[in-house]
Amino acid sequence: MKKIFVSILMVAGIFSAPAFAKKVQVVATTEDLGSLALEVGGDRVSVKSLAPGNADLHFLSARPDYIRHVSKADVFVLIGADMEAGWVPVLLNQSRNGKIQKGQPGYVDASAGIQLLEVLKGEIHRGMGDVHALGNPHYWLDPMRMIVVAKNIKNALIAADPAGTSLYEENYSAFRSSVADLMQRWMQQLAPYKGKKVMVYHREYNYLAERFGFEIAGEIEPKPGVAPGPADIRRAVEQARAHKITLILAAPWSNLSAAKKVASDSGAQLVVLPIQTGSGKNTESWKKMMQTVVTMLAEAFAKY
Ligand SMILES: [Zn+2]
Repeated sequence: MKKIFVSILMVAGIFSAPAFAKKVQVVATTEDLGSLALEVGGDRVSVKSLAPGNADLHFLSARPDYIRHVSKADVFVLIGADMEAGWVPVLLNQSRNGKIQKGQPGYVDASAGIQLLEVLKGEIHRGMGDVHALGNPHYWLDPMRMIVVAKNIKNALIAADPAGTSLYEENYSAFRSSVADLMQRWMQQLAPYKGKKVMVYHREYNYLAERFGFEIAGEIEPKPGVAPGPADIRRAVEQARAHKITLILAAPWSNLSAAKKVASDSGAQLVVLPIQTGSGKNTESWKKMMQTVVTMLAEAFAKY
């Protein structure tokens, strides 16, 4: 009897939820974008991030549950620069949601206004591997570029929910100044290691390197998205020795056995860094993830 009473109360609770509580539904492709959407949107938004932080963004698909989330979205945020080219066009099409199609105010290409590194010029062909022709899309480890992302999200939230304009503007300003403060700390942490050379598994630490002044002297992958074979490992070992590399950086989903082999054969140290929000310990928000990456990197530089 008591149980039934409780269930009735619960049902009544759901139906009596006030209509004005309807939040702006934001769907982001990654947890980094979701984290920023939450900072800017505050309690006026409900955020769903599709790819879990430990997923390799290069190899996702338009899963039915992703399509369901996107079909109900008011705002859809993606990395852009072809990062999600393999699955987002299908996802948008299948969602049958007019609000968030490309060109609509609810469609947020987070890379808009961002200067991308490594924009390819000339002819692109399949033999070049899974190249990112529009430029390197792994820009979310650069705090300054993420301020632009927050601004893009802020503008889309204002378009979707004009009543929240002042809150979105306020939150965006707060985000911008907090990142400026954090940048000072991060710059300080990495300042002693300016000009250091590292090797990477995939070209996903290039924006971090550019911003904080260390150098990427080579990568283990022969081409982006192509697993290294024995010859590539030998080439990487030679490169690492030639550049006197002491540190090799890899993401949790890199081919770690190949990275370990290059490290042990060249005498370098392999450091697996989180690279996305939600991709390991102390990465619950984008800011926390950045802090963790900077601290781990500074410690690794100091040690090796
Ligand atoms: Zn990539």
